[in-house]
Amino acid sequence: NKRFLLRRRPEGAPVETDFELVSDAIPAPPAGGFVLHNHFASLDPAQRGWMDDAPSYMPPIALDDPVRATTVGQVHASDHPDYAPGDWVMGLNAIEEYSVVVPDGFTAKVDVSAVDSPSRFLSAFGAVGLTAYFGLLEVAKPQPGETVLVSGAAGAVGSVVGQIAKIHGCRTVGIAGGPDKCARLVERYGYDAAVDYRGKSAEQLADAIREVTPDGANIVFENVGGTVFDAELMNLAKHARIVLCGLISEYNSETKHGARNLWQVLAQEATLHGYLISAYVDRFAEGGAQMAKWIASGEVVMDEDIQHGIDNAYPAFMRLFSGANTGKLILALD
Ligand code: NDP
Repeated sequence: NKRFLLRRRPEGAPVETDFELVSDAIPAPPAGGFVLHNHFASLDPAQRGWMDDAPSYMPPIALDDPVRATTVGQVHASDHPDYAPGDWVMGLNAIEEYSVVVPDGFTAKVDVSAVDSPSRFLSAFGAVGLTAYFGLLEVAKPQPGETVLVSGAAGAVGSVVGQIAKIHGCRTVGIAGGPDKCARLVERYGYDAAVDYRGKSAEQLADAIREVTPDGANIVFENVGGTVFDAELMNLAKHARIVLCGLISEYNSETKHGARNLWQVLAQEATLHGYLISAYVDRFAEGGAQMAKWIASGEVVMDEDIQHGIDNAYPAFMRLFSGANTGKLILALD
């Protein structure tokens, strides 16, 4: 049972020696639980936060524990009447080939018969697609004709935010890194305009956003923070709603950049809403059903970036911070 352990808390960007891949025996099922053979592990920016010993919405990953991750896999051996060997299950487990599971609120059986890959439960039918869904529809409440400005727009969350906003009659402007991702924003995710943030100061980026958003953004869906957020703040429409979903540009910085143009929130009488998908777990079935319809009809596409092998866990994870990932980043464990 290969396991990807956190040995040291990263200082700034994680380095390979913060982790260690170990191998031990496949565990036996615990009383009232089962052993899950993980096929896919979700690689998420949030995992970087869980590596720090800082106040958050979840306790930090303990040193010498495997890195916590949502996984999907098959029951290997069971001492639970509802989980039989072979059943497909997802849950909050870890980057390891076999996890000992005592079912909790995160554990759910999944029906893989209707999907082309069980990895879909970590992307289109998982919490990441629903992060876009509830963050946009319930927090920002878009109205037809409004302009929605999205950072990290080519990523897992951002690509879906743009598509759902279009379905709701909005104009969408996406910010991403590099010409390829910007082309993808328009051609694949239906954004009306794309802005490349790379190589631009906050002021230059603010100007570039203004060129394509002359009346300002009614909604800002924030995934990035830092200078990108500074530039967006200079382009708010009156009474804009800002969904603060993530700040990935700051996760590896020991000195936080902060929001240097925060004064624009009061100048434009905007609302800044800190948002966690966990607030909507009771509504996952409803959101999941709608997402499934849109995916089936082709109205929403959600791309996956599948990396292979637990031995590649570290370089695969780091793709999130270099921007190498094209779509939801997932590690296939076998
Ligand atoms: P993505 O698929 O968007 O991957 C991360 C992307 O972030 C990269 O591809 C890169 O895109 C961009 N990025 C990385 N570093 C920087 C940087 N320094 N400056 C600008 N852009 C950068 O990941 P997810 O969709 O999984 O997550 C997106 C955001 O959503 C994260 O901030 C995450 O924490 C947040 N999130 C929040 C949730 C919640 O409940 N609030 C739930 C799930 C996710 P590029 O090539 O364009 O630079």
